[in-house]
Amino acid sequence: MHIKHLQKSQKKRLQKSSDFYTPNGLHVFFKEPMTGDNVDVEDVIAKVESRLPKHLYSEIEMIIVGWFDEFEERSINAYYDSGMIYVSNTQDDINDMADDIIHEIAHSVEIPHGYFIYGDNKIRDEFLRKRKHLHDLLWSKGFKAPLSFFMNLEYDEEFDMFLYEKVGYDKLASMLQGVFISPYAATSLQEYFATAFTEFYLDSDHGFFKKVSPAVYEKVYKLQNPDELDIH
Ligand SMILES: [Zn+2]
Repeated sequence: MHIKHLQKSQKKRLQKSSDFYTPNGLHVFFKEPMTGDNVDVEDVIAKVESRLPKHLYSEIEMIIVGWFDEFEERSINAYYDSGMIYVSNTQDDINDMADDIIHEIAHSVEIPHGYFIYGDNKIRDEFLRKRKHLHDLLWSKGFKAPLSFFMNLEYDEEFDMFLYEKVGYDKLASMLQGVFISPYAATSLQEYFATAFTEFYLDSDHGFFKKVSPAVYEKVYKLQNPDELDIH
């Protein structure tokens, strides 16, 4: 009885790390099994698919779960590259993993719909206004760095270090309240978009987001509708 129960639970655990396909065409491949049995990846994918319109994840050929060298090298736990989402096999809960996957889907959407997202410069202008505000705020608190540092749209490691190590994440988080939806959104223009996209689909209360970042909100809102996009 006991052994049978054990075998049953082992089988259940193994099932959680078995490759699978969804009817919508997502393929999940386990390079390594999940490190805990707290997250059922099928539940995560079901959640992602239930939240996102199908045309927004059509770029994704495969989601690969495991641990990758890039995670160590870049201190990240997920990334997107050429149709593949690489995501960590260590996750706190369903939302934690759904957050990672939706965030990487956002980066996949930037490629076919880059012109729609960035072409009119509305997101860029909003982002730069916030970065300027951040510069002034930090300057007034004694964190003095040149404005040009803040006007770069791309991810910059030196800037990242300045924010997270010199200023510090906690201080930054409280200063950025009401400016950026999260400190990570301040990292680069692409992260500004990806965090907004993720927030839109994971948190059904859009009030704060819409108020704080109306330009990026409008883009993410419109992306839901395939008729707005050049999809044939
Ligand atoms: Zn990102």
